[in-house]
Amino acid sequence: NDVLVRARDLQVHFPVRSKGLRRKQTGAVRAVDGVDLDVLRGETLGLVGESGCGKSTLGNALLRLVEPTGGSVEFDGTDVTGLSARALRSLRRRAVMVFQDPYASLDPRMTVGQTVAEPLQVHGLRSGSRPARVAELLELVGLDPSVASRYPHEFSGGQRQRVGIARALAGEPDFVVCDEAIASLDVSVQAQVLNLLRSLQRELGLTLLFVSHDLAAVRHLSDRIAVMYLGRVVEVAPAADLSADPQHPYTRALLSAVPVPDPARERSRERIVLSGDVPSAARVPSGCRFRTRCPAAFEPCPTVDPALQPVPGAHGGDLSGEHAAACHLHGVVAVSR
Ligand code: SF4
Ligand code: MG
Repeated sequence: NDVLVRARDLQVHFPVRSKGLRRKQTGAVRAVDGVDLDVLRGETLGLVGESGCGKSTLGNALLRLVEPTGGSVEFDGTDVTGLSARALRSLRRRAVMVFQDPYASLDPRMTVGQTVAEPLQVHGLRSGSRPARVAELLELVGLDPSVASRYPHEFSGGQRQRVGIARALAGEPDFVVCDEAIASLDVSVQAQVLNLLRSLQRELGLTLLFVSHDLAAVRHLSDRIAVMYLGRVVEVAPAADLSADPQHPYTRALLSAVPVPDPARERSRERIVLSGDVPSAARVPSGCRFRTRCPAAFEPCPTVDPALQPVPGAHGGDLSGEHAAACHLHGVVAVSR
């Protein structure tokens, strides 16, 4: 398997300081806390979990929009954790973010054409060639090129998100992170933007990391899905296998909350209700971080931190394409670090 983005033991810890003058560091919020993840070239990888699980921080860290505090990120074979400013510029072109809020992420004083052209200037496209490229990008996202002279307030949320996507694609990136890219849109518009992302992914051969709290939306779009809990990837699998044969108790709970369209199955299906909220990332439980909410917790769980391991029998394999989970139910294996 061809890996485009590889994270190993990736950490993003934010210091917590005491109040007052000395502001001593008293702890850390472990937003991303030892993530192992491979994103394969040309795939759509869904990243799901409740809010506060570190999904956005992970997405940002993979793009180096936030600085990792430990571990490594490789992009196309190059470790990007220690890149020079110059090398970082090339990463900025090849790996981009589509933001959650199309209202907040577009400058209201710039026309749509200027917004989409801005990265072209940054990437050094001659000014004479920019209008044609802007028209091409607008068409690519299903907008009429004549809208280039208009302002964001003249557009609906879905159209603005299309503009945001056009801008993200301006530098012909390889890797696109969509962070809750449809969450702020009307339900009727969400499907259109999802379909657009799916067709762009295919047409342009993009590698897509689709970050969402909405497992149902992610399932339709993704080739594989990674489930995140409290700063860690706890399960990763091909999308169909994750739905049909979830291995981690947290994944089972998330899936059991997704409504089933068939009323007969809806009545009979198993529903797992998790007790309590996600613990604070400043106080991650010892051993398995899910144990405070896990209906299956047993003897090793409070002391041994489970490693992400291939699941025997469940389309077993490795981190790149096969089914892996971090749970002692599949054999007690401690994280080694
Ligand atoms: Fe539950 Fe233990 Fe598995 Fe953690 S390791 S998910 S607590 S059974
Ligand atoms: Mg988020």
